[in-house]
Amino acid sequence: MVEENLRQVRTDIAAAASAAGRNESDIMLLAVSKTKPLSMLQEAYQAGQRRFGENKVQELVQKCSQMPGDVEWHMIGHLQTNKVRQVVGRAALIHSVDSLHLAQEIERESERQGVITSILMEINIAGEDSKYGIIPEDAIRFAAELSGLSHIRVKGLMTVAPFTDYAEENRKYFRKMKQIAVDITAQNIDNITMDILSMGMSGDYKIAIEEGSTCVRVGTGIFGERNYSK
Ligand SMILES: *Cc1c(COP(=O)(O)O)cnc(C)c1O
Repeated sequence: MVEENLRQVRTDIAAAASAAGRNESDIMLLAVSKTKPLSMLQEAYQAGQRRFGENKVQELVQKCSQMPGDVEWHMIGHLQTNKVRQVVGRAALIHSVDSLHLAQEIERESERQGVITSILMEINIAGEDSKYGIIPEDAIRFAAELSGLSHIRVKGLMTVAPFTDYAEENRKYFRKMKQIAVDITAQNIDNITMDILSMGMSGDYKIAIEEGSTCVRVGTGIFGERNYSK
């Protein structure tokens, strides 16, 4: 099932990219494997998938130790400062940086380990109370604050768009994300690039791609519905 789903998602990504006059190789697919058993990750790996996203530190650490070494791990969930130590050095990219305090902790730990950590700034694009992320109005200021942290590289922006049955409703938010990235780029801030726009999930990734996403995070579309009750 996983293999078929993956093939379908890749086909859809290619079609959305092509329809938008974009190159499909400019869009990375993260397989969001949270709550899913190792066997399903292995199935995805067998089908050629190398990038996986997890939203809990403990799960990321555990799966990281059990999967082949050429897997690229992405931390996409809310990160507490006391867990930074376990993520730095393991995650290729931390998508969910939403405070200076958290960034400073990543900076400290990266320096301690002698590594440079790539991060994204998480934006709460629709201003939802239930979501993490900084508000769009603070994005440029936040980027400027992060610029001074020498063991961090800001690579772009991430958002979790509102949950909706009508993906088209999220187009305006994806468009706004792209604009924020353009605005930050125009500021020419040291250490800050906006190469990665991490937006679009199972329900809305085609529209996100049409609006400039370079990284879609797909869980349900690859692994099926999650069951949180067990
Ligand atoms: C769970 C999750 C996803 C994947 O959601 P699906 O709707 O299952 O594709 C993407 N991004 C984040 C941050 C998530 O927590």
